[in-house]
Amino acid sequence: MHYYDIQGIQLTELAEKFDTPLYVYDANKIIEKIGILRDSFKDVNIKIKYACKANTNLSILKLMRKHGVEIDVVSPEELRLALMAGYEGAQITFTPSGVSFDEIELAAEIGARINLDNLDVLEAFGKLYGNKKGALIRIKPHVFGGGNEKIMTAHPESKFGISIHQKDQILEIVKKYDMKIIGLHQHTGSDVKNADAFTQAASAILEMAKDFKDLEIIDLGGGFKVAYKDGDITTNMAELGAVLSSAFLNFCQEYGRPLQLWFEPGKFLVSEAGTFLTTANTVKKDPIKTFVCVNSGLNHLGRPMMYGAYHDIFNASNQDDSQQDDYRVVGYICETDTFSWSAEGQQSERRMNTVNKGDIIAMKNAGAYCFSMSSQYNSRIRPAEVLVINGEAKLIRRRENFDDILRNTVEVDV
Ligand SMILES: *Cc1c(COP(=O)(O)O)cnc(C)c1O
Repeated sequence: MHYYDIQGIQLTELAEKFDTPLYVYDANKIIEKIGILRDSFKDVNIKIKYACKANTNLSILKLMRKHGVEIDVVSPEELRLALMAGYEGAQITFTPSGVSFDEIELAAEIGARINLDNLDVLEAFGKLYGNKKGALIRIKPHVFGGGNEKIMTAHPESKFGISIHQKDQILEIVKKYDMKIIGLHQHTGSDVKNADAFTQAASAILEMAKDFKDLEIIDLGGGFKVAYKDGDITTNMAELGAVLSSAFLNFCQEYGRPLQLWFEPGKFLVSEAGTFLTTANTVKKDPIKTFVCVNSGLNHLGRPMMYGAYHDIFNASNQDDSQQDDYRVVGYICETDTFSWSAEGQQSERRMNTVNKGDIIAMKNAGAYCFSMSSQYNSRIRPAEVLVINGEAKLIRRRENFDDILRNTVEVDV
């Protein structure tokens, strides 16, 4: 189902007021998703850690915090943003991938929880802190899960985490430095549809957890699948909640005390809250196809070209669905940048209400990994961002201008 307004404000009105290209986010949708996750796991001591790389706008981070969601960061810069949003060190989890030990030390000094992802840093952490600071270990459970090869993270060849087959080496290091391992972590990948991949990974982690005596946390990562179009299969949260909660509670009983169950959803919390508004610069009728060329490109929303992601697209300026056509929606970047790329990885057309030059073309699921992955490629400025909250549209990031393109340029005589 298409929507033409957010909390009663027409998309076309937002486009007019703030100009396009424009990212708009619906705060109510984010709050609703937080509620769904909490309800699904109401029987266990769940902590939600928003994987903020999905969308790092400071106002989104503050909204999360206001609604009791803590935060997962992957860089020192995200860590600083989390602190700026008001999070305390202990509410922040640092889950980096193959970073230098300096970054880990910085996070540890701030008091963040850290997911150690290789034997080297485990050893360095043990050497430096011994049992003075607790840490979590990111385990690679050798499980296949996730939408496609580029977004799977727990399969045997993945770069992420310490292989579950290296348990003995982990335990040796932990013993050598008398380390306090307070949690085990795993993240299966993104767009994980079936509860099976989660439960498989969870049971592998829980089995391993029996060998660690100081645990307070089991962290099962993120990756819940969201709907990209009508009829899409998504992670069934109620079912997943029931299955995982019961496995987790059984484990706690066996382990001898109650632990916290952590999740790190990114996409699940923010993807559907976002809509990307563009303007049709021209409708180009070719003998074979009709192209809608919009005032944006893969520099602003790269997911279709980067990993074949599907974004539902509709004409927000025309609600009359009695006249439709097939359109290929493309950007202005000087290489192929098709927004209407299909999930199967082929160029494709979308059936849309008749598009005229100047119409507002809206793309759904634009809340996660869209603005946060944007760039200035082709020396194009980045869009503005707006948050609709309590029925009011608020600018949360101004549109860039030419100064932003030049900002760090150093001009020299040549
Ligand atoms: C990216 C990431 C997530 C979030 O993944 P989603 O698919 O957005 O839910 C969670 N945990 C870690 C460690 C990540 O890197």
